[in-house]
Amino acid sequence: MAELDYDELQRLADAATEGPWKWTHEPGDDEGALRSSSEERYVLCANGLHTEGFIAVGVADAEFIAAARSAVPALLDRVRELESQKVCEHQNADYLRMMAERDAALSTIAKVEALHTSEGWPLPGGRESKEYCTRCNCRWPCPTIRALGSVPSTGEGNDG
Ligand SMILES: [Zn+2]
Repeated sequence: MAELDYDELQRLADAATEGPWKWTHEPGDDEGALRSSSEERYVLCANGLHTEGFIAVGVADAEFIAAARSAVPALLDRVRELESQKVCEHQNADYLRMMAERDAALSTIAKVEALHTSEGWPLPGGRESKEYCTRCNCRWPCPTIRALGSVPSTGEGNDG
């Protein structure tokens, strides 16, 4: 990207005839003019457009026109660059918000998991003990723990 000298461009724009400018030229005519509609005066007069003619223009306006040829594309590049950064910042804000929501959801899941823990209850006659949820009194894993996906589903029905 071309270097932009904003101060110099500002100086050239301030020194040039007040805008807006309008190019007026009748088709087929050999003369044309650049006019300032705000100051109602000529900025540039051209004669002999289709032959060897001449152009009359003030120095300040000519310098501004010359600078604009490079400055306008460079300014467009700069504007596009800044606008793309704005999009990135917007996307970044969305990302950070979604991560905060995800963290809050994970924190809630962890709190629910902490409430539902398993405990083995001894069975009479020395039979094998079964695990139950201390919160629900359901066979472990209880429906809550299964719904959270904290343990692989065994395919068994809900016996709670
Ligand atoms: Zn439970």
